[in-house]
Amino acid sequence: MKTPRLYADGFGHAVGEVILTERNHHYLARVLRAKTSQSIELFDGEGRSCQAIIKNISKRKTIAEILNVTEHKDRRLPVTLGLALIKSDRFDWALQKVTELGVNAIQPIITKFTDSPPNASRLKKKWRHWQEILVNACEQSENNWLPELRKPSYLHELVLPQQVVMAHPGGEFAYIDTAKESLLLIGPEGGFSDDEVNSLVKNQVKPMSLGPTILRAETAAIVGLTLLGHQYGHY
Ligand code: SAH
Repeated sequence: MKTPRLYADGFGHAVGEVILTERNHHYLARVLRAKTSQSIELFDGEGRSCQAIIKNISKRKTIAEILNVTEHKDRRLPVTLGLALIKSDRFDWALQKVTELGVNAIQPIITKFTDSPPNASRLKKKWRHWQEILVNACEQSENNWLPELRKPSYLHELVLPQQVVMAHPGGEFAYIDTAKESLLLIGPEGGFSDDEVNSLVKNQVKPMSLGPTILRAETAAIVGLTLLGHQYGHY
């Protein structure tokens, strides 16, 4: 069996034995029916992973002993994905995929054509759900760096960094300055409004074509990220 790989926030500061979180205990005890002496891998989402061994697994908790810690270089793409809120299942799918691709940060955005933007309490729940998707994707893809998940923001309230690329059909390919990080904006199913496009272009945002066909937003997120990643020499 493949060694189970689990996200353990902050283990990097622990030595010797650690009590695993309720989530990890549940997964090991109930889903995998793991036993004492089983090897596991833990990672903290900030570049540290370790081999560990289960010392004790009871009904209530799992205790693991950390054996050796490895530090991994930050190999995330220097790109923040500004993805418009789209239908939940598609948004969730995009989060999983861009985490596999090694995105640095994710900024959910609300634009003029975002359908029924969720209210504050629903957003809070969603944020936890999204965070779990990122953790699962890191566990599965051997990514040791958890992307930073930002709070959703209206597009017009976003503080734009120096280099911003807006995926928008019909233009040309955009070449970026690879010495700088970038923010990649992807619109909702209705696209960006003319006002949004004009205002972004006025703010030095580069429009970027992703080819002659119209992609769904979640496809555009993956293609856009890959094309920027290629320019950064990431792939
Ligand atoms: N009806 C919209 C398309 C929206 S597709 C329109 O014509 O603008 C959702 C988002 O995916 C777009 O806002 C854009 O950010 C991105 N996208 C889709 N296809 C693209 C393409 N060929 N080039 C650049 N961006 C694209």
